[in-house]
Amino acid sequence: MAEPESPAFQVIVLGPNGGPREDHVTGLLVRSTSMNWVPGSVVAVDAGTLLAGIIRILKNFLPDAIDEQKRMTEGPFKGLQLPAKSAEANAAHIFREIIGAVLITHPHLDHISGLAINTPILEAGSGPKPIAALPSVLSAIKNHMFNDIIWPNLSDEDGGAGLLTYQRLVEGGNTRFGMGDTRGYVRACNGLLTKCLSVSHGHSKQRFHPESGIHHRVGSTIFPPDQYMLSSRAISMDQTDGSFYSPARSPHIPPSVSGPKESMMASVESSAFFIRDHHTGREIIIFGDLEPDSVSLEPRNKRVWEAAAPKVHTGRLGAIFMECSFSDSIDDSYLYGHLCPRHVAAELSVLAAKVMELRDPASHDKKRKRPASGFGDNTGSPLSPRTKSRSNPSFERSEPRSGDVRAVDLPNTLVDRIDSKDFAGVSDTVSWENADPLPLTGLSVYIIHIKEGLDDGPPPEEQILKELRAHAEEAHLGCQFFIPDPNQGIWV
Ligand SMILES: [Zn+2]
Ligand SMILES: [Zn+2]
Repeated sequence: MAEPESPAFQVIVLGPNGGPREDHVTGLLVRSTSMNWVPGSVVAVDAGTLLAGIIRILKNFLPDAIDEQKRMTEGPFKGLQLPAKSAEANAAHIFREIIGAVLITHPHLDHISGLAINTPILEAGSGPKPIAALPSVLSAIKNHMFNDIIWPNLSDEDGGAGLLTYQRLVEGGNTRFGMGDTRGYVRACNGLLTKCLSVSHGHSKQRFHPESGIHHRVGSTIFPPDQYMLSSRAISMDQTDGSFYSPARSPHIPPSVSGPKESMMASVESSAFFIRDHHTGREIIIFGDLEPDSVSLEPRNKRVWEAAAPKVHTGRLGAIFMECSFSDSIDDSYLYGHLCPRHVAAELSVLAAKVMELRDPASHDKKRKRPASGFGDNTGSPLSPRTKSRSNPSFERSEPRSGDVRAVDLPNTLVDRIDSKDFAGVSDTVSWENADPLPLTGLSVYIIHIKEGLDDGPPPEEQILKELRAHAEEAHLGCQFFIPDPNQGIWV
């Protein structure tokens, strides 16, 4: 984690965990080093921890680490000029003036609680602070958080206090903006651009309806069973609703998961933010919570890896921040939309394969065997779900705890992807064990959202890091794994 010679980004991880402690939950700050801490030059990505994390860090370095110009001389905020004396007042200054916008990956409490509690200290006079996210995420925040019931309406919509403004992002990037490499990217803050891709994070009985702009219970009148029967978007049905299951249209869902007791579910939407330094063209990716494509009802990670691979290939992508909530001891049926080391490695193997295809496009079609990488058990294999469901008779999902569901409806584009031969995720066409350098060499992977252990045992971080490094070696990935320390800045 040493500072590289000319880093483009600095990332400060305010909240490295995914609970259960409320004061360490997910929140990061990102800035372009070229902007020198000018106002609006930092973007917060998720805000489970925000002010409390900034105050905690400042207190570790104040009042000693400050020079005559009131600039910090040490720590993650090194170089930042602080106008006040106390850590609290300086943290308020950072939130009001230096943080230009807040990006939210998904509306779970551990990613937005700090923002909700902190927002009253914003000042209407300096204009509303933008919160940028996918429409489904902002809909949830607007209707279920800043709704004058759970918390005051502090937004500038529907007669609110005007401290925040919702900036609805176009999934996959807004192609009306940017040219060439920056096509689809929009401004995140001074010096940084961003593009957001959606990913899946478990499933729920609530689904976002783009026309009404709110979430509805799946199976409500907004989504009557007949609509699924007739809609070209529908691919699988709950038999208790008198509907059908079509293996031909949903090859990735093993028949074993579509039982008569299951009801309709929708995939929970989370996000991956590509963040680009305008000055250098370097990029990082920050994922919200996500699940592996191999167990997902709506696998979408592969799209992120396809977008990332050319950036790894050209050396522009320096780091990925992704969750790894549990160690490998977790069973797939208890992941609840999260990752563990075997799945992190399997996902990164998909990226590695894409990078190898770019290095040698001709090799893509030669049916060569890729390195064996079972990652300790059959559930974490980077083989596609389709492959598993056909070739491995023992592949059965464990019954969910509360008899919940596996049926799902998928957008057309996904059905097309599933139907294409290419869906095979990491296909058996790419091999790289002798690649020099290994495909993800130079890429740093920072692990966030680890669920803290509150018992007397060793911290889960050690075990997770050990498992990740073992899988990465076995799969010949070449990337480095780190667990962020909030008291050290990360330079990329
Ligand atoms: Zn979370
Ligand atoms: Zn979550």
